[in-house]
Amino acid sequence: MGNPPRLKDDCFALPEGTVWTPVETALAHLRSHMRCVVGEERHPVSEALGRILAADAVAKRANPPTANAAVDGYGFAHAALSQNNMQLLPLVDGRAAAGAPFAGKIPYGQAIRILTGASVPKGVDSVIMQEDVQVKDGQLHFETGLKLGANCRAKGEDVNAGEIALAAGTRLGPQEIGLLVALGVAEVSVRSRLKVGVLSTGDELRQPSEAASDHQIYDANRPMLLGLLNDWGFEAVDLGVVPDDRAAVEAALDQAAKGCDALLTSGGASAGDEDHMSAVLAEKAQLHLWRIAIKPGRPLALAMWQGMPVFGLPGNPVAAFTTALIFARPALGALQGQGWQVPQAFHLPAAFEKQKKAGRREILRARRKADGSVEVFASEGSGRISGLAWADGFVELPDEAMQVKQGDLVAFTPFSAFH
Ligand code: AMP
Ligand code: MG
Repeated sequence: MGNPPRLKDDCFALPEGTVWTPVETALAHLRSHMRCVVGEERHPVSEALGRILAADAVAKRANPPTANAAVDGYGFAHAALSQNNMQLLPLVDGRAAAGAPFAGKIPYGQAIRILTGASVPKGVDSVIMQEDVQVKDGQLHFETGLKLGANCRAKGEDVNAGEIALAAGTRLGPQEIGLLVALGVAEVSVRSRLKVGVLSTGDELRQPSEAASDHQIYDANRPMLLGLLNDWGFEAVDLGVVPDDRAAVEAALDQAAKGCDALLTSGGASAGDEDHMSAVLAEKAQLHLWRIAIKPGRPLALAMWQGMPVFGLPGNPVAAFTTALIFARPALGALQGQGWQVPQAFHLPAAFEKQKKAGRREILRARRKADGSVEVFASEGSGRISGLAWADGFVELPDEAMQVKQGDLVAFTPFSAFH
């Protein structure tokens, strides 16, 4: 199974004259240019957890495969019940149990002992719960009132054989695995896992095990981005740190292109003297610095490096995290063959007040309260990495000016919706 063709080198080019790109425009551009770049593999369903279906999964058999009992009780033909209030049916010898069907036909006007999950025998169309009957001298006694078909699950009432159970692009979670196995699907075609490299840039960066002077900071972005990629089901590739040096940046990009399908970098992506990532991308590839009208933001540096899409995120951890979720997540999903996923926001009453200016979208670190309202982190300063750990999602305020008052509905997207 061959790999799909590469993306075009100019796929990140925005229309000329674009200065501040609205978030929706940037997302629409990514959406129309990102598509699946990985091949497919076949795996036993039990080994496909977290993978993306490469083709529709079709039910091999119905669920349930034949009509079966939903309760422990007694089965009979409904039409044979009398108009009297009390019913009295003789019981046949034998029983029907899960995995041990009753072979014969139940004579009209008689009943059989039947247990949950047992195939409904011929001559039976309704089952009464054992709690609602009395059995005396081989006879079943109960009061009228049972509906035709009661407590029987019809063949295929959940899914019929030949139906598409899950569409191509579906991520297989535990529930999907359970469904496929129930439908007799033993093996699935899934997408090869997208390999996504993570690279940090900056002379100031130190590793957790190292001592750091006051002018140095710890490389928080790399483990954070690797963690996001792992949570999202991609194969995260740790490419370490490069210093603020063009030759080193170039070598790191070459190295990444050898083993990765896409790359997330952080830092060095603006247009300053020490922004070597954007400098190298501009010199050796087609760099597209997207100035997106978003806070927190800074430009996103996008380029194709030897056929590998590079998402140059801002160095600031809050901006790196935010842009990773909003722009890189759906783009990587599309590259992985998941299609373009739009995280589902929902509206909650604000437990805060805010006067917002026009001209850019604002993404606030937010958290749900027990009363169902949503509060935002006390400081909007984008250096406040503690706000990321405090929050469980974003409140997104629209591009236009707005005044948020206590109790107004605002759009909240939990971090888990980006999965
Ligand atoms: P830059 O985009 O390189 O100008 O970086 C912007 C800010 O983010 C600077 O304060 C950097 O020190 C900081 N920064 C850059 N990379 C990282 C990183 N990997 N972890 C934590 N902070 C970073
Ligand atoms: Mg830097």
